[in-house]
Amino acid sequence: MAQQTQMERVLARWQRWLDRWPTVEALAAATPADVIRAWQGLGYNRRALALHNAAQQVAAHGWPDDLTDLPGVGRYTADAVACFAFGRDVLPVDVNVRRVSERTGHAFSPAAAQALMDLGKSVCLARVPRCGICPLAGDCPSRGMRFEPLRRQGPFEGSFRQRRAEALRAVLAGREPDDSEAIAALARDGLVEVRDGAVSLPSPAL
Ligand code: SF4
Repeated sequence: MAQQTQMERVLARWQRWLDRWPTVEALAAATPADVIRAWQGLGYNRRALALHNAAQQVAAHGWPDDLTDLPGVGRYTADAVACFAFGRDVLPVDVNVRRVSERTGHAFSPAAAQALMDLGKSVCLARVPRCGICPLAGDCPSRGMRFEPLRRQGPFEGSFRQRRAEALRAVLAGREPDDSEAIAALARDGLVEVRDGAVSLPSPAL
């Protein structure tokens, strides 16, 4: 849920999700339609189906040694779970950890993971780092530098993402969606089904 969505927006939803589906098996047994409905408002709906598919894989075959074998799980998520949930000796490299590592040129130990994430989020900021209060300033070669603004994701308003979200909301509300391009994209991702011109939420696999 926290992939590409701020943690503040995720927390209450995460708790409700776990109240409803407290185990991997419970989520695996849910219908795709219920999972998509419960995800509404979190954005990037493909993550809902990936999570559901991952739960089904784990329920059927157990946890894989490499979590990236699960749908929707990339290197960073796999390493974060390995580090924080399983206590393995792995440094998860998110955008904040990468920035601090690149600017300092230092190879940090996995034990520093949480500190690096906090430092990157609140001190070693993307454009204007707060070197004056940084505990690593002593031998950081980037101390005092300024950086170009990062390329930001385009605005949601008026985007194709927004059209997809509106089309999915129409299907969820039982309305006929009128954006065929958005529906085709949703169908390609398995978020809706189109049968004889009628659009519906995906039905459970047989
Ligand atoms: S000294 Fe500045 S550039 Fe270096 S890690 Fe600290 S905040 Fe980042």
